[in-house]
Amino acid sequence: MTRVKPFHTYQVYIGGRWCDAASGDYFESFDPFLGEPWARIPRCDKRDVDAAVAAARDALERGEWATMHPSRRGQLLRRFGDLIQLNADRLAAIEVQDNGKLYAEMRGQLGYIPQWFHYFGGLADKIEGAVLPIDKADMFTYTRHEPVGVVAAITPWNSPLMLATWKIAPALAAGCTIVLKPSEFTSASSLELMRLVEEAGFPAGVLNVVTGFGAEVGEALTTHPGVDKIAFTGGEASGRHIARNAADGFKRMTLELGGKSAQLVFPDADLDNAVKGVVSGIFAATGQTCIAGSRLLVHDSIHDEFLSRFVSLARTAKMGDPMSSDTQIGPITTQPQYQRILSCIEMARAEGAECVLGGNPASRAECGKGWFVEPTVFAKVSNSMRIAQEEVFGPVLSVIPFHDDDEAYAVANDTPYGLAAGVWTNDQCRAFTAAKRLRAGSIWTNTYRAVSYMAPFGGFKNSGIGRESGQEAIHDYLETKCIWMSYGKDVPNPFVMR
Ligand code: NAD
Repeated sequence: MTRVKPFHTYQVYIGGRWCDAASGDYFESFDPFLGEPWARIPRCDKRDVDAAVAAARDALERGEWATMHPSRRGQLLRRFGDLIQLNADRLAAIEVQDNGKLYAEMRGQLGYIPQWFHYFGGLADKIEGAVLPIDKADMFTYTRHEPVGVVAAITPWNSPLMLATWKIAPALAAGCTIVLKPSEFTSASSLELMRLVEEAGFPAGVLNVVTGFGAEVGEALTTHPGVDKIAFTGGEASGRHIARNAADGFKRMTLELGGKSAQLVFPDADLDNAVKGVVSGIFAATGQTCIAGSRLLVHDSIHDEFLSRFVSLARTAKMGDPMSSDTQIGPITTQPQYQRILSCIEMARAEGAECVLGGNPASRAECGKGWFVEPTVFAKVSNSMRIAQEEVFGPVLSVIPFHDDDEAYAVANDTPYGLAAGVWTNDQCRAFTAAKRLRAGSIWTNTYRAVSYMAPFGGFKNSGIGRESGQEAIHDYLETKCIWMSYGKDVPNPFVMR
């Protein structure tokens, strides 16, 4: 696969029209493998947010979308999914160029993303209210589920298309309208996706995209009185700030935040599989995933053998151009993140952890001028160290030995986060007990990093609020209304509650 375009200037998509930002300004988006800018992205501000929210509100309350039958909404969603499938190669190449994700991973993601649109398209006309067997005479009482309204969908840089999909599919199925704000580091793929919105036949204003910086356009969006719900994926600090904005405006919100997930390897585990699973948890996507299994908790009786096998495999990982099909570890997506990872590595050394693999910027020829960090493993980590408590969001693993199961669960849960955990064991009792005792939204046993449109995903504790994917997700985009209809002949005593 080759790079898409030498240089490209994007426009934003508001109210069914392509336009420049009101400011007329742009910022550059970088190709992390080349370390060079490859696109110009409009720098939106409050004026663009006002226009996008007005367009979304208009589409919600008037016109075709407002009165569209849910079955037709479902058809449009399924068509959108089909178009993504048809354009998978192009979208994958743009994401690789803008983000540095592996082409192999993006082809897999783009092959799978349509399923979210097919699944939620199928749910669009199955949003059913209920008739209540109400305890009052001569009263007919029923519920309706109505779209929550205009949704501000805000995404991070690490998986722009997948994470936008997790919000767009249920929101549209519910009948909401959306203003999407992708990360300032990786806006291109979300803008490219809008071409397919037009082609699928969604009415103008149903889906809008504004681009720019969190403190400018993100802040304008999350404080806008015309926004009813915020669906946010990103870091803990931004999430906390956005939750305050949501509280001030009584906006509904779902938050998908960070993690410090543990992988627990018990002595009865299949060690070959466990080694591969732990590698996939921390080095796939160059560790830039919220579900990175960044703490390896390994039983002390197998610690040395496991670590030696793990390091041998990790050492062979092929770094380089993410466009090449045989590359296994790509660049870090942003320069600030590259610097943060290197400073976390220094922090771990200063805390006394022992670096047994990597620990440096990668200087291999095949990494060119890209922002690469070697796969890094720290042994002799104690769970109270900052390297074991703070999210690195990069290819850095902390190894912590444990002596018995109780200790393993206690250490795994001893973190402010609760997004995911991996359990490697062949003992069924242990597998069920671990699934119960670990406080995290996803528990993977003898596997890791599996997601599905059918499976709820989200975090305990500081990892977030609410769930995405699965049938329940649609309810986060709905309000429940209760309707009371009296068919009694007389209105009873007006001074007493009925
Ligand atoms: P970030 O919080 O810096 O930015 C995320 C988005 O929020 C960006 O679009 C940014 O512009 C916007 N933003 C920032 N400040 C804002 C503000 N004041 N108002 C409104 N919007 C604002 O996160 P990031 O660095 O892009 O992404 C990495 C983080 O995302 C990691 O912590 C990772 O764990 C988390 N993440 C979580 C999940 C999940 O599903 N739980 C998935 C992927 C990433």
